[in-house]
Amino acid sequence: PTVGRFETALARLEGTESAVAFASGMAALTAVLLVRGGAGLRHVVAVRPLYGCSDHLLTAGALGTEVTWVDPAGIADAIRPDTGLVMVESPANPTLAELDLRAVAHSCGPVPLLADNTFATPVLQRPVEHGARLVLHSATKFLGGHGDVMGGVVACDEAFARQLRQVRFATGGVLHPLAGYLLLRGLATLPVRVRAASAAAAELAARLSRDPRVARVHYPRIGGAMVAFETVGDPHEVIRTVRLVTPAVSLGSVDSLIQHPASISHRIVDASDRRSAGVSDKLLRLSVGLEDVEDLWADLDQALGEPGGGTGRATTARLRVPE
Ligand SMILES: *Cc1c(COP(=O)(O)O)cnc(C)c1O
Repeated sequence: PTVGRFETALARLEGTESAVAFASGMAALTAVLLVRGGAGLRHVVAVRPLYGCSDHLLTAGALGTEVTWVDPAGIADAIRPDTGLVMVESPANPTLAELDLRAVAHSCGPVPLLADNTFATPVLQRPVEHGARLVLHSATKFLGGHGDVMGGVVACDEAFARQLRQVRFATGGVLHPLAGYLLLRGLATLPVRVRAASAAAAELAARLSRDPRVARVHYPRIGGAMVAFETVGDPHEVIRTVRLVTPAVSLGSVDSLIQHPASISHRIVDASDRRSAGVSDKLLRLSVGLEDVEDLWADLDQALGEPGGGTGRATTARLRVPE
């Protein structure tokens, strides 16, 4: 019943009839692909970038899917009789690229559009209002919000939800009741957390975009707690020298986290596919938490080092190599 209460709450937030919760975001995506594959609709049309493991799951075809990667303008032409799903993220992980969801949904025709809404949360964007049929969340991120729970959820109509529950029953990717409790409690503060973190993120994005040590800043028009930026110097040096911000994968926590997508979250994606999707080797992805914005800026400012690329510090330690 605790998981059921979380599902009902999330469905109301996303404006859907139902929602089905899973053990993780990847378990949720797996269930969607199995539902469509089970109906003989194994072909997926997808737009890069997506979260690295979502990209990998589609590219590897481990669930019997075949993927066609396209630009948004190429969606309609890529759809075949066996296309079961169109998949997008907006803002996308890790570049924060935004799509016109209404135009994308229109290009899909009768094929269901799955929008990964992990980055925006229903506080900033409700994809169903723009024509998406399925809304995916890694609940591990903003919905839980404290970096202490893993979960996933698909918000959709009841007909699709019924099929998702059958796959969940058969494959075991269930959400633990304690995780359901933590996620439900997370939802109570979701709007307050997202608005506070977004205000800080917008301020940091503005300061970074005026900074000569930063080559490029990516911050979505709809706002949000995520900032991506390309350094002029070595991005690993920033990761190595932050003190308040935690160098770690994941996002959406009360604690600010920073990571280097090319070597962590999107390492699994082929380097050429990564680069053509706009994931530069200089890109850093920052998830802004609830620390004071001046403290966060002071930390980023010292971590970016001296203008001109040098760090102004003795750097005898070797770079930490991410696993
Ligand atoms: C993390 C993430 C996922 C996968 O979720 P898990 O809960 O880690 O399995 C899917 N999509 C996006 C956008 C993510 O950031």
